[in-house]
Amino acid sequence: MTEKPRQITVLGAGTMGRGIAHVAAAAGFETLLFDVDPQSLTDAETTIHRNLDKGVKLGKIDVEEAAEAKASLCLHDDLETAVAEAEVIIEAVPESMALKSQIFTQVARFAPAESIFASNTSGLSITEMAASSGRPERFGGMHFFNPVHLMKLVELVRGLETSDETVDTLRGVATAMGKEVVLVNESPGFVTSRINALIGNEAFRMLEHGVASPQDIDKALKLGLNHPMGPFEMVDLVGLDIRLSILRYLQQTLGDTYRPSNLLVQYVQAGRLGRKVGHGVYDYDDDGNIIREE
Ligand code: NAD
Repeated sequence: MTEKPRQITVLGAGTMGRGIAHVAAAAGFETLLFDVDPQSLTDAETTIHRNLDKGVKLGKIDVEEAAEAKASLCLHDDLETAVAEAEVIIEAVPESMALKSQIFTQVARFAPAESIFASNTSGLSITEMAASSGRPERFGGMHFFNPVHLMKLVELVRGLETSDETVDTLRGVATAMGKEVVLVNESPGFVTSRINALIGNEAFRMLEHGVASPQDIDKALKLGLNHPMGPFEMVDLVGLDIRLSILRYLQQTLGDTYRPSNLLVQYVQAGRLGRKVGHGVYDYDDDGNIIREE
């Protein structure tokens, strides 16, 4: 593997994949974006162009840089061609070990032997995915945050067999994308998802027990603890279903401290999945603004 990759393939063009493709293209990498859903690919291109144009308007990048980033991005609906010459492959498909393992097994058949694989999983085992790739030493976690083009952190996750060279290459990629890196030895939920899940779950328990309203719990953490978002604003952004599946995984791997609150389970059963469906702990209008607080 070359120390300084020029090309990055991103698998999955959803919320995270399109953000990762944005920062990869903006950093000058030749960026290939693959998805099984053609609509997701065209939506991703629209979003990336819109966010780059916004960056120009805000004076964060100049017109030429935005044009170069757009030109560096290439959409693919065929996996084999998307990874055939890949140097670094970053996966951002839905949070399912079965799906991720299956895609890495498949990608390993088409990608060059020396390419490096990374997963943007929020907390699943990098070591387990690495095993399915057949190249565990060239496999690591790159946990980006939403919205990727604005959030500064990447948690770089070292699996059991991740090599130092892989860590260095992935660190270099993240740094080139303008990110700050923290190195985490694999552990369920890494640092951020584990702590965030616990805070969010505790907020639901407080709501369940009538300690305070969602607005006041959010306000308390923002003004009293200096959190930029309240735990309910945050879970609505992340998705209540995603949060529930993370908690279930943490409960299974780390113990009952992470048992999901009954109220969170009920919200998910009711279809209140967060901003993405217009209803979560709060209700949202079409522009994503809270319209009715409970
Ligand atoms: P998403 O549902 O928005 O996007 C997933 C994309 O993957 C979709 O476009 C879907 O069509 C595509 N896809 C499904 N199967 C595929 C396949 N076999 N090959 C290629 N593409 C396929 O999901 P997301 O929110 O972007 O999350 C992706 C990953 O990032 C998950 O592992 C999630 O845990 C992690 N993550 C999410 C966030 C977040 O805030 N959303 C933050 C950090 C990490």
